Amino acid sequence: MNNIGELFQSADWKAEKHVPVIDGPQEVKAGEVAQFEVTVGREIPHPNTTEHHIRWLEVFFLPRGAKFPFAVARFDFEAHGESVEGPNKGAAYAEPKVSFSLKLNQSGTLFASSYCNIHGLWQSSKEINVN
Ligand code: FE
Repeated sequence: MNNIGELFQSADWKAEKHVPVIDGPQEVKAGEVAQFEVTVGREIPHPNTTEHHIRWLEVFFLPRGAKFPFAVARFDFEAHGESVEGPNKGAAYAEPKVSFSLKLNQSGTLFASSYCNIHGLWQSSKEINVN
């Protein structure tokens, strides 16, 4: 294997806790701000421990018919219970659930990607129609 795309796994999010789920409008008005949410582990929560957690999540937009995607949002989850007391004794756990706002002028596809420190790369997509 020599294609990074092949490293991204996909599955039914209702059965697989790693899939980033994109929530938001399917239809938006051109130039209007729309809000989207991406959640990893929406149906089955993903572990969030010092040893096993979601590290980051990134969102791309590919205009319909375009060749090159645009990176539109990126989130790093930095706290997973680390502490001087030891693993999982910390005060903070960043949860892999984010929202962001986006203004679109063309229809296309949103792609969400996420990374689990043990189970690798995952992705999903959502078609957006701009009217
Ligand atoms: Fe995992």
